[in-house]
Amino acid sequence: MKTALITGAYRGLGFEVARQLTDRDFRVIITARHLNLGQVAAAKLANASFLELDINDPVSVGRAAKQVEQLDVLINNAAILSGDDQDILRLPAELLLATLTTNTLGALRIAQAFVPHLSKRAGGRIVNVSSGGGQLSEMGTWAPAYCISKTALNAVTCQLAAALRADGIAVNSVCPGWCRTEMGGAGAPRSVEEGAAGIVWLAADAPQGQTGLFWRDRQVIPW
Ligand code: NDP
Repeated sequence: MKTALITGAYRGLGFEVARQLTDRDFRVIITARHLNLGQVAAAKLANASFLELDINDPVSVGRAAKQVEQLDVLINNAAILSGDDQDILRLPAELLLATLTTNTLGALRIAQAFVPHLSKRAGGRIVNVSSGGGQLSEMGTWAPAYCISKTALNAVTCQLAAALRADGIAVNSVCPGWCRTEMGGAGAPRSVEEGAAGIVWLAADAPQGQTGLFWRDRQVIPW
């Protein structure tokens, strides 16, 4: 049985990814920074356990990493999008910094902490949940801090993919599409099930040799 760890997984896409992976006979480690909410979420699924993990807190990350032995898949799902993230010309530096801290640095910190636990020759995987908003080829004016943080996350994906290629660990970014979650809002066109499916495919089914790429709906998309 393979094991997957998912950040920010007590709700939204993270929880749905956990649910779909347990349906696929994965053992899932749901992580979240809220102890009670995380425990309640994990209790809903067979083969799920919970670990308290704030991706911005090095102490929390170090403590969580010590409690994990062998991992097959690491899914960097946790992220923030501020309602004040509106206008590049008036974007407060603090807001950009806070968004980069969680969405980019947080994901990198998690990768650094958990790569030593990832299976190597047996085909470890890191899936970074990014966003079409981070595509340089499609960049507009929407949510500048969030989009910049996801572009930078995609660069983290490329760096990690190159660094881990020789170990046989695949590292990819994925856009789930615009989904009805707290972040996506009720008006989004996709369900969480649809959004999670592409993440689950990368975690479980994508050919192991596919690494250093950006995906949506099982297709490679431009950076
Ligand atoms: P939600 O806002 O529903 O979930 C985000 C999760 O991240 C929450 O569980 C949140 O927990 C957690 N989180 C935030 N900061 C931290 C932290 N420091 N430590 C631990 N957990 C944290 O968002 P979605 O489910 O919609 O998004 C999941 C991923 O999909 C994100 O990476 C997002 O950028 C991406 N995405 C989503 C789209 C959409 O339309 N929904 C579109 C494109 C990409 P807490 O309550 O503690 O903040």
